Amino acid sequence: MKLLILGSGTCVPSLQRNAPGYLLELEGMRVLVDCGSGILLQLERAGRSYRDIDAVFITHSHPDHISDLMPLIHALIATPGYARKKPLQVVGSTLVEEFLEGCILGVLRRPEDFSIDYTEVSGKMQIQSLTVYSAKTIHSEDSFAFRFEHDGYCIVFTGDADYSESIIELSTGADLLVADCSYPYEQKRKGHLTPKECGTIAAKAGVKHLLLSHLYPTNYSAEDILEEARREFNGKVTVAEDLMEIRLS
Ligand SMILES: [Zn+2]
Ligand SMILES: [Zn+2]
Repeated sequence: MKLLILGSGTCVPSLQRNAPGYLLELEGMRVLVDCGSGILLQLERAGRSYRDIDAVFITHSHPDHISDLMPLIHALIATPGYARKKPLQVVGSTLVEEFLEGCILGVLRRPEDFSIDYTEVSGKMQIQSLTVYSAKTIHSEDSFAFRFEHDGYCIVFTGDADYSESIIELSTGADLLVADCSYPYEQKRKGHLTPKECGTIAAKAGVKHLLLSHLYPTNYSAEDILEEARREFNGKVTVAEDLMEIRLS
């Protein structure tokens, strides 16, 4: 299982950090986790193709996590000389489904050549060879964290989240925890995690590797962020960068 970070940023436009999106590459399957604005171009920059995406998981319906779902489906429908046959699986909340049906398919119309199969988030899901667990997070009405298990490896995405026991439980023993690390502790805002809280969660959950992402522009350097997290967690910690790749197997 391989993780490609497409966007380590937020809703704030940045040339360094694109809006959120991650590509999980498994044997025979490509999964997008969140699809914020610019993610289609980030896939191109990384030498990957939007055509290969099998499934899209959306953590919640905020625009920085969902905006490029329409351009993705548009490109799959309208690329000259390309006729997609395999279904596109989309997983998210009821709000995401309303956005898909009303805004995206309301404009583009339902594709004729391939199906868009929608799965509403539940506690445990099986999407092809991927087992996925979810937990509600403290952020928005429809925000979820996801735990992906495949071939003996496990990666957890907090999505946007504040500190909660449910995140610790979902992250237990994970090989990699990709965490919302919006602001340093001194600038904490409700509904988001800080490096210190990410470190506490990683320590309590016993994860192997903590990846700090969803970073707002602040006056803290990557070193400052690492140092704050490392005070709580003595395992491996990395500050995410766009187009960084992490191999789990
Ligand atoms: Zn966000
Ligand atoms: Zn959000």
